[in-house]
Amino acid sequence: ATPTAVMVGTGVGASQGVLIKGGQALQSAHKVNCILFDKTGTLTMGKPRVVDTRLLKDMPEPDFYEMIAAAEVNSEHPVAKAIVDYAKQFRDDQEKPTWPGAVDFISVPGHGVKATVKHREVVIGNKSMMLDYNIKVPVRAEKVLSEVEDMARTGILVSIGREVVGIVAVSDPLKPGTREVVSFLKTMKVKAVMITGDNQGTASAIAKEAGIEAVIAEATPAQKAKRVKDLQAQGYTVAMVGDGVNDSPALAVADVGMAIGAGTDIAIEAADIVLMRSNLEDVITAIDLSRRTFARIH
Ligand code: ADP
Ligand code: MG
Repeated sequence: ATPTAVMVGTGVGASQGVLIKGGQALQSAHKVNCILFDKTGTLTMGKPRVVDTRLLKDMPEPDFYEMIAAAEVNSEHPVAKAIVDYAKQFRDDQEKPTWPGAVDFISVPGHGVKATVKHREVVIGNKSMMLDYNIKVPVRAEKVLSEVEDMARTGILVSIGREVVGIVAVSDPLKPGTREVVSFLKTMKVKAVMITGDNQGTASAIAKEAGIEAVIAEATPAQKAKRVKDLQAQGYTVAMVGDGVNDSPALAVADVGMAIGAGTDIAIEAADIVLMRSNLEDVITAIDLSRRTFARIH
């Protein structure tokens, strides 16, 4: 393509809300034959909500939620926000709830949080988090977890005083149109893969809803980047689509990193292309534009 064609292509992209950072990004996009999609906030709405509470011990729900909200109010994680938001309904001071003080707060990225509330140790997160703190996950809890995961929800384990006392089911539905985008990519001969820090069960259930066959679950930010490199080593030209800080290493190593415009600044900086309208359809717009610019057949 001529420099003029690249300039025109970049301009057309911009007019459609696809911000392409330079000619190289526009060029690489036409060769993309594999796309890795982050799950949370990319394929899904990214606004999880509490949809179910499964108590394993006889304890009032308001007390249960008071303990976990007191710990989670210190976390920025979307799951933490969902829990605190849900816990508000049990408070008299719903507008501006004050929670019991939490001391020794610790956040373990990709696993969960821990704090001491009312002199009791509260540990909240996935199975890895329980393993980190040597808390036994009873068979009953395992069963509830798989039930929750089969419904495409994430089960958050709650331990109080070193005992798993309940599971909070959190739902983060797919963005409308996700299925259509995935199915259209197939017609474009592009392989779609989902990659996430969430557990295997929930990840597989969500991927199935999206029509994605390949799933990589329980991936740390470094592992996300490693998976991009692995696929490149297999000969794929790889695009990564993500919104989070935890996607930025993968966005940087991908042949084409695409950030969701509504995502974090760090992801936007690491990406080659920014989807300003935060529409998943614009992944197709970007590749299509590149194909038109670089693989034009007259
Ligand atoms: P995702 O890729 O879904 O954004 P993360 O890597 O941020 O996932 O976290 C992976 C998992 O760790 C979450 O699905 C959740 O089970 C657990 N987790 C992380 N942070 C928290 C938290 N603040 N409270 C409870 N669970 C958490
Ligand atoms: Mg995300």
